[in-house]
Amino acid sequence: MRQTLDFLLFDWLKAGDLTVRERFAEHSAETFSAVLDTCEKIAREKFAPFNRLADTQEPHFDGERVHLPQATHDATRAYAESGMLAAAQDYDVGGMQLPCVIEMAGNAFFSKASVAMGGYAMLTSGNASLLMAHGTPLQREVFAKNEFAGRWFGTMCLSEPQAGSSLSDIATRAELEDETDALGPRYRLTGNKMWISGGEHEITENIIHLVLAKVPGPDGKLIAGTKGISLFIVPKKLVNERAELTGERNDVSLAGLNHKLGYRGTTNCLLNFGEGRFTPGGRKGAVGYLVGKPGEGLRAMFHMMNEARIGVGLGAVMLGYAGYEASLDYAKQRPQGRPMTAAGKDASSRQRPIIEHADVRRMLLAQKSYVEGGLALELFCARLVDELATGDDKTQAQALLDVLIPIAKSWPSEWCLESNSLAIQVLGGYGYTRDFPVEQYWRDQRLNMIHEGTHGIQALDLLGRKVVQQGGASLAALAARVQQTIARAIQTDWAPQANQLAAALAQVGGATKKAWSTGEPEEALANAVPYLQAFGHTVLAWLWLDVALAVSGDSHFAHGKRAAARYFFAYELPKIAAWLDVVARREPLCREIQPEYF
Ligand SMILES: Cc1cc2nc3c(=O)[nH]c(=O)nc-3n(C[C@H](O)[C@H](O)[C@H](O)COP(=O)(O)OP(=O)(O)OC[C@H]3O[C@@H](n4cnc5c(N)ncnc54)[C@H](O)[C@@H]3O)c2cc1C
Repeated sequence: MRQTLDFLLFDWLKAGDLTVRERFAEHSAETFSAVLDTCEKIAREKFAPFNRLADTQEPHFDGERVHLPQATHDATRAYAESGMLAAAQDYDVGGMQLPCVIEMAGNAFFSKASVAMGGYAMLTSGNASLLMAHGTPLQREVFAKNEFAGRWFGTMCLSEPQAGSSLSDIATRAELEDETDALGPRYRLTGNKMWISGGEHEITENIIHLVLAKVPGPDGKLIAGTKGISLFIVPKKLVNERAELTGERNDVSLAGLNHKLGYRGTTNCLLNFGEGRFTPGGRKGAVGYLVGKPGEGLRAMFHMMNEARIGVGLGAVMLGYAGYEASLDYAKQRPQGRPMTAAGKDASSRQRPIIEHADVRRMLLAQKSYVEGGLALELFCARLVDELATGDDKTQAQALLDVLIPIAKSWPSEWCLESNSLAIQVLGGYGYTRDFPVEQYWRDQRLNMIHEGTHGIQALDLLGRKVVQQGGASLAALAARVQQTIARAIQTDWAPQANQLAAALAQVGGATKKAWSTGEPEEALANAVPYLQAFGHTVLAWLWLDVALAVSGDSHFAHGKRAAARYFFAYELPKIAAWLDVVARREPLCREIQPEYF
């Protein structure tokens, strides 16, 4: 994986060139590589050996405290000490001022080694970065800085039992208590938050929850829709302006842990806010400090959305990678069956390793094309985040990110899950047991199509908003970029694939128009998921072609990349015809079938 990562980062994406920019001037390709080396080492030593343990010894709540394996404490501590929590932050807040693409690449090692143990740090970094963007100077100093230092960890509390995809329906209530508190206008919160990752543990002395809640209007009622949603800092233990614990426990309590299919090493919690279990200041109600302006909570929460969704996508890719490598190792060693030639008919001849069967190679190539293609996609998007922050053409970067982010989140969630399934298949019966790691990767992976916007919601975002916004400007920007690759490839041995990609791009454009030809969202969006799949496969075909053009030489590495690219064009891209067919004719079956008919 490291060789592919280095190739994609430095040869394909030219990440080393970022050091000419002022923000990254103190870095060099060597310092970038040193960061990757450190992450790889910590992941190998502190995370990977305990991934199974974190799964089998799942978090346990004894009614008072949550217990986690010591290995999770040790691993997260090592991560915090590496400085990666503040990797992309300014030097003056203790950061390393790394580009997003290097930060993401470094974090990829942890996702591959143990995605669940890595979860606490990823949440903390996202939480603190959000406070850097939207918090007051004191909120940054007290909360964000201590999170970056690893003294406290953070969470994101959006979902409620009755409100997941539809966040406008949240019911957590925030009542103003004191507008003049130095830590920010102080409110009292009441409500329940469901599915909160990292919501309770004792890894750090405090947990900083970022909570979405509604401030009631003058009539005392909650405002319907997203406009009434505000964002609050709700620490588990109260702190003062000098970031010292006051000794008082906030009114936030764990109602229970969810017992999950996978990702078990990260606690997942139902949290009750303001139920009166604790009474800070002598009364019930969770103390929360407003972040930003009232009513702008969702906007602030989604400020970090690009990074968060690339992070989920990259996590999905790395789980796929872990399964791919495990199944590749196995396939090289497992003797089973003989060639279909005359020599193979001799039952006393030696069996061949299963990697010599064409069908096993098909499964390995499929995995290789999904995980390496997925890695290219996520790094490309992370590089765009850097373009948006420090590049010359921010408009172009924004347009590309707009259409690519739903793909960055959803494509690996679906296809690296398929990859993990194929890894199990390569191992046969052994893959289905807990004696091998591949079943855990599949279970861990299954979450990714659900959280951070479900597959269905990502599809609605892509077809309902992103490709039609500003008269289709984002789609046009992507098409122009794809055409550049086609123009280069057409001059090479890759001309057949270039023509195939040009046809696919035209099909996507045509289907987009036909889907919207009646202007009825219910009609256009009924087949949004097949559209997302076709769009994603077209993007991946483009990236594979672009990567193939960057490969040179006669090494095994180069041949492997070319084979994976060819596989994608031969076996995967043709699938888009069926997906786009239902989109283009606005197939009504799914929206017309009556619930009673099931
Ligand atoms: C392990 C885990 C960790 C999580 N961590 C966190 C966390 O840290 N913080 C947090 O706030 N949340 C977290 N979540 C919550 C997660 O974001 C939600 O589960 C997700 O948003 C979906 O919400 P839901 O479960 O209520 O499903 P629902 O929204 O009820 O969706 C159920 C199904 O209906 C579909 N659907 C819903 N609405 C529509 C629509 N309008 N059109 C078409 N289809 C639709 C969905 O696509 C889905 O397939 C986590 C969830 C899990 C399982």
